[in-house]
Amino acid sequence: MTSSETCKYHPRESAAWFCCHCRIHFCGHCVPRKTNAPHPNCTLCRRSLSRLSVAKDIPPFWNRLSLFFLAPFNKNILIMLIVYSFLGTMLPIGVIGQVAFVILLIPFVSAEFDMLEKLSIGQKLNFTASQLIHSKQSSLTIKAFIVFALALLLVNKVGFIFGASSGYFLAILLLLGVPASLVIFMMEKNILSPINPLKIVMLIKLFGKAYSFLFLISLLTGFFVSKTYQLVAEPDNPFMVSMLLFVVSFYLVTVIFLMLGYLLYQYHVELNYSINAFDPKATISHKSTDEDGMEVVEIYLQEGRFDDAKTLLLKKVKLDPLNYKANEKLILLFAALNKTDYLQKLVDQYFSLLIELNKAKQAADFYCQLLLREVPYQPSSSALVIAMLPFMNNLEQYKSALTLLNSCSLDPAHEKRWDELALLKAKILIEYEQDNTNAISLFNLIEKRSLNQALLEEAENLANLHQRL
Ligand SMILES: [Zn+2]
Ligand SMILES: [Zn+2]
Repeated sequence: MTSSETCKYHPRESAAWFCCHCRIHFCGHCVPRKTNAPHPNCTLCRRSLSRLSVAKDIPPFWNRLSLFFLAPFNKNILIMLIVYSFLGTMLPIGVIGQVAFVILLIPFVSAEFDMLEKLSIGQKLNFTASQLIHSKQSSLTIKAFIVFALALLLVNKVGFIFGASSGYFLAILLLLGVPASLVIFMMEKNILSPINPLKIVMLIKLFGKAYSFLFLISLLTGFFVSKTYQLVAEPDNPFMVSMLLFVVSFYLVTVIFLMLGYLLYQYHVELNYSINAFDPKATISHKSTDEDGMEVVEIYLQEGRFDDAKTLLLKKVKLDPLNYKANEKLILLFAALNKTDYLQKLVDQYFSLLIELNKAKQAADFYCQLLLREVPYQPSSSALVIAMLPFMNNLEQYKSALTLLNSCSLDPAHEKRWDELALLKAKILIEYEQDNTNAISLFNLIEKRSLNQALLEEAENLANLHQRL
């Protein structure tokens, strides 16, 4: 099992999941997932799927140290760091400055989360500076800040009650958990998950020595950030000193986030964090496949599981009677299974609904498709035919229109609206087949037998016009 496997149903997509029971590879689209269910089930057998991994090809953390320390010098990331440092240096002094400092950190940390996420799914950090400055992770960041503020409050309280040294001790203890919390937060995006001590301990164990290194960098970063925070409140700081403090703090924070992103990538199998199945760019298309869910129907059809496909389609049609895709797939499925009686009823129902809702064009188009596929169907009422015909009055579809008309009786004794049908047919014969003879005999029939005065006059005029030509 490697990432080079492709999806059975989408040969251009690389596989993200494997069913050991069915021996089938699936891509992310083929496995509709509920947001809260990290373990998806096989679409075919409902047993749980194995996540495919690229872990074997990932170089370990220690071999990538240069990436973490040098990537912040990448032009666009550097621009972002300098922009935020400059803004930080320009902050007013005192309490207002400290509040502004925290507000400034929100977009900055959002950009850090963007970088973490990119690395965590093994992608390059190809951001533009403006993408970084307009990061979309702010809701995540605000949640993280709330947790962080509560932790600070706790440290203050403990320091106040038990003395400053206990406060420091607690601060260091909490700081130990911060990198792990950030990883958990990135994976679960839930405000309560990063404070779960069991998960934090599990991550620290998993990352091992890399975590100790990360913790040392965190201590250093904590020192610089708190120095910078104090400095904001003080008046008369030389510009260069503040600028330098900001740059160093922001640089170190970036290094930490990059290391976390990489560790998440390296250990994604152990952490049950999917790389192929989780692609932030694909979230939009994922949503749309979830909504119509036709991917699963396609899989059933390809596997010859027609009953499952039928059940699912019937469910979809019941939920949304105007779901074109599901209705039409269901009809074609019945046609393929030769269930002619049921098919007849189903198409009549579908067409009646479309026409009732002024969507006769959809009905006309689908009727032409049925003809192309030689599906045996005849509308049960002339009302359906009369509603659909005007939309087939074109060079591409007139032949289907004639077939449709031929399925209707033009006998005044049998069909109440025979004259309307005959008039439509005669017009099509003249326009597309240049068959004036048959058209004129239809006009004559209308003149003789129709009780509808308007129709009768129209037929008379047309007959005169074409007889003269
Ligand atoms: Zn697929
Ligand atoms: Zn299976």
